Amino acid sequence: MGKPFASSADTARKTDTLEILADGVYALTAEGDPNVGAVEGEDFVVAIESRATPAASRDWLKILREHTDKPVRYLILTHYHAVRVLGASAFEAQDIIMSRASRDLVAERGEEDWKSEFGRMPRLAKNAEEVPGLTWPTITFENEYDIELGGGRGQLELRFLGRGHTGGDITVWHDKTRTLYAGDLVEAKAALYTGDAYHFDWVGKTLDNVKAYRAENLIGGRGAVARGVAETDAAVEQTRKFLNGMIENVGRVHKAGGSLKEAFEATRDALAPEFGSWPIFEHCLPFDVQRLWDEYDGIEHPRIWTAERDREVWAKLQG
Ligand SMILES: [Zn+2]
Repeated sequence: MGKPFASSADTARKTDTLEILADGVYALTAEGDPNVGAVEGEDFVVAIESRATPAASRDWLKILREHTDKPVRYLILTHYHAVRVLGASAFEAQDIIMSRASRDLVAERGEEDWKSEFGRMPRLAKNAEEVPGLTWPTITFENEYDIELGGGRGQLELRFLGRGHTGGDITVWHDKTRTLYAGDLVEAKAALYTGDAYHFDWVGKTLDNVKAYRAENLIGGRGAVARGVAETDAAVEQTRKFLNGMIENVGRVHKAGGSLKEAFEATRDALAPEFGSWPIFEHCLPFDVQRLWDEYDGIEHPRIWTAERDREVWAKLQG
């Protein structure tokens, strides 16, 4: 009997923790579930990431509203993944910002991704029937977009630093407090999801660009906030080590003419001692190895995950 599909059997509710990193600079972590954040401007709030559904986003806003009642002027979405974007309507933001590449991915595969992600992790899909449809940005940009916060609060610098976790990830840098919201480009003691990734860009230039900020606070996609440059460097290097472990093992089996299943097992054996206890390790790894295998096969643009393809790959590798 195989393992239960993805995170379908993971139904235990996680505890939210609000971290106030500086005056008006917030991160909400959730024991390995997706993180979200917010930064206050003089008379508005910038929210960073949505949750998976409007109900889940309202749970976050309720916590934020204990600290500020300023309206949400901007909602920044670091990438297109369903559990990061489909609760956007709850913010009633004046503008929703994504990279142009992320917008194109919503258009190309947003519907399939919605079904895929809610099937993989049903616990996040609280009151899923309220999702009004796909989330579309009202502002897009290619590489750079800045937001002046006003009132001496500094600015937010949104940047595309190269392909990584997806083809369109952006980071959000708050200059005044040297805080970086890195989205899923960096995880702090949570397994990486790389099923839509560009492993070779991510492990090199893109992570170098993230690290170059020398952030004092780094909020990754999942896991605790890293504080101090030593910790933020460590979070980046943990992410790189996970990617390098995959590249080494999948690459070796692929070059030797082995099978996808052999690549999966070699990668799991190599990574499990260090990363196996981290959230969503067993959930992510089949999808991760399949995507990297595709890259070794020369498939540049990630194939679209559908609910059916998810189950096929799972049965082949974890069944
Ligand atoms: Zn993601």
